[in-house]
Amino acid sequence: MSTRVWINGQLFDKYDAKISVYDHGLLYGDGVFEGIRIYAGKVFKHKEHIERLYESAKAIALTIPLTPEQMTTAVEDTVAANKKVEGYIRLIVTRGPGSLGLDPRKCEPNVIVIVDDISLYPKELYENGLEIITSSYTRNHPNAVNPRIKSLNYLNNILAKIEAIRANCLEAIMLNHKGEVAECTGDNLFIVKNGVLKTPPIDAGILEGITRNFVIDLAKGDGVPFAEATLTRHDIYVADELFLTGTAAEVIAVTKVDGRVIGSGKQGPITQRLRERFTAAVRQ
Ligand code: PMP
Repeated sequence: MSTRVWINGQLFDKYDAKISVYDHGLLYGDGVFEGIRIYAGKVFKHKEHIERLYESAKAIALTIPLTPEQMTTAVEDTVAANKKVEGYIRLIVTRGPGSLGLDPRKCEPNVIVIVDDISLYPKELYENGLEIITSSYTRNHPNAVNPRIKSLNYLNNILAKIEAIRANCLEAIMLNHKGEVAECTGDNLFIVKNGVLKTPPIDAGILEGITRNFVIDLAKGDGVPFAEATLTRHDIYVADELFLTGTAAEVIAVTKVDGRVIGSGKQGPITQRLRERFTAAVRQ
């Protein structure tokens, strides 16, 4: 069966799923999106993703032409139409087709739901940990495009990702305009130091990751001391453990940053425990 894509209430074969070249999503990256997982036939953290999508849309003054309930149903229907049990959902709302100028007033938003497979990091990296670098690109200043908005304008992250790939790495840490650690190009970041789990606060200029929030809940439930804390590159280099969280990545250890071995150079015990707890919880 071929993949069926939902566009504005209709299902199309993926090769016939098309939108206008005048769509401001294409012309200007004007739109918002979500990436969501399907585990054991269930949409994981569905409500949280729908809420974040509507908040992103509100922040860019984009009115989504569906209620959150209708959007939830559209996602469920597309998952069912594709008979997906394990997979990935890409939910997109573009500003829609308009004139060639920036003015969005004549645009009618397009709503798209794609249900497909996800390629995670290679399995061995979940055992051995990732090697990453610090990017030279500053994460968007919150007064420019706030990183809390999951917008279609991902060039900031893509430039850092290209830099990582050129350095033979798959992820990069992005610092904010103050030089503090913000997040990675598509993942949030946590350290463990002296038994305390730490992650940058939202006002470091990050996306408030749904996996991040879930991992914080798991850690608290396990009695792991936790704090949101301003982190610098120094804190990263001298951390006992370092790991990333994200919808696609889940929980993955980082064992090398900018050529420095982190902690023992292996996935640390708290990271391992949280990864196990995460893997078990998503299927409950
Ligand atoms: N930061 C950025 C920039 C991201 O793109 C993502 C992936 N959505 C994350 C963090 C992780 O967020 P989540 O756990 O909600 O997938």
